[in-house]
Amino acid sequence: MKSEYDVLVIGGGPGGAVAAWNAAKAGLSVCIIEKRPAIGAPIRCAEGIGKDLLKEFIEPDPRWISADIRWARLIAPDGTTVDLDEGRAGAEVGYVLDRKVFDRELVWKASEAGADVFVKTRAVAPIMEEGRVCGAMVEFCGKRREIRAKVTIAADGVESKFARWCGIDTTLPLREMMSCAQYLVTGIDIDSSCNDFYLGGEVAPQGYLWVFGKGERSANIGIGIPASKAKPGLRAKDYLDRFMNEHYPDGRIIECVFGGDPVSRPLPCTVADGLMIVGDAARVVDPLTGGGIGNAMITGKMAAETAVKAIAAGDTSKAALMSYDLGWRDAKMGRILERNYRVKEYFITLSDEKMNTLARSIAGFDFSEISVKAILKEIITRNPKFLLELKNLRDVIV
Ligand SMILES: Cc1cc2nc3c(=O)[nH]c(=O)nc-3n(C[C@H](O)[C@H](O)[C@H](O)COP(=O)(O)OP(=O)(O)OC[C@H]3O[C@@H](n4cnc5c(N)ncnc54)[C@H](O)[C@@H]3O)c2cc1C
Repeated sequence: MKSEYDVLVIGGGPGGAVAAWNAAKAGLSVCIIEKRPAIGAPIRCAEGIGKDLLKEFIEPDPRWISADIRWARLIAPDGTTVDLDEGRAGAEVGYVLDRKVFDRELVWKASEAGADVFVKTRAVAPIMEEGRVCGAMVEFCGKRREIRAKVTIAADGVESKFARWCGIDTTLPLREMMSCAQYLVTGIDIDSSCNDFYLGGEVAPQGYLWVFGKGERSANIGIGIPASKAKPGLRAKDYLDRFMNEHYPDGRIIECVFGGDPVSRPLPCTVADGLMIVGDAARVVDPLTGGGIGNAMITGKMAAETAVKAIAAGDTSKAALMSYDLGWRDAKMGRILERNYRVKEYFITLSDEKMNTLARSIAGFDFSEISVKAILKEIITRNPKFLLELKNLRDVIV
């Protein structure tokens, strides 16, 4: 481990790995540190990702794809289903990844491009000089040492502390943190090319429960509800256990996952002098779906590109790095995050009865596109009176 790099990346998830990979590819000296002893484990993810988004970063490889998803079903509280079918829409749905292998592949790519990788190495404090971030103090093999860097990228995920240590307000209200529980279940009869999303107050109040195919007779079955709703007997795990007893009583649980997923707006600013924040640490998770793998990779790549330019220009001040923050907000990802935040805030107010009405109104419709926007457009077309309630969304949907 050297004591000085162009770029120090904190966190070996998809955001950090893609940042390190792209910065190293561009010829910068890069160090990526991960506090856990192994990249990709334990996973805290249902592992779903859109095909098009994934392909922007890496060619799909059967080694880390658990299931090819060709259709999805939304299941309303009364059992009404809305099918989104790749065959009929002519648009692709997604994959369920094997993130234990996928995350390693991304870090491997970073390493092959020249980045130094250190696992079981934890950032414990930023190195601050005259208000600017100049790297991090890290714990490595039981010893503390300094790693200095022209640019530090905080990719330390949902439990991110680094940005807060640098003086950035990262507080998140409990209602905007989804409390998640998930089982990897095997020995069940499912269509592993389908992802199911169960909605409703009985199943997953203000959240949803998912069944994502993981290959033959296996699935990630999980749930997210706002942490503010979790009470004794009404925790995410309680809802999940009730669902399992009802739907898959003979399923064998071979892995349990518990974790948080932020569904807030992104941090108000994701840069400081010498620092950029990416992925879950920047709170760029899709607030409607809870999906964050793709956005972590998008922000990781954009942060690396900004670092390359700033270092070449010899200016890594907040003003110079601001193009990263403005860049992702102006990009498609930033616009979708804002739209889906507003949609999520509307949907969590819906009663089960209203959800049933909306689902019934679009059940059986052949969507020509599989997207949140297409579903919302169809809901509005078939329920003109809801347009009034959707007033906060009209500008982003129509
Ligand atoms: C139950 C659940 C299901 C989900 N399902 C999906 C899904 O189906 N699809 C989807 O797209 N997203 C899903 N997500 C969200 C997704 O997992 C995250 O958005 C994604 O992992 C974010 O990537 P990241 O690189 O920002 O952070 P992470 O993948 O969390 O990586 C951050 C890394 O930083 C490390 N770290 C933290 N602090 C330090 C430190 N001080 N020093 C060194 N290393 C540190 C951590 O150990 C971790 O490895 C789910 C989340 C949960 C909780």
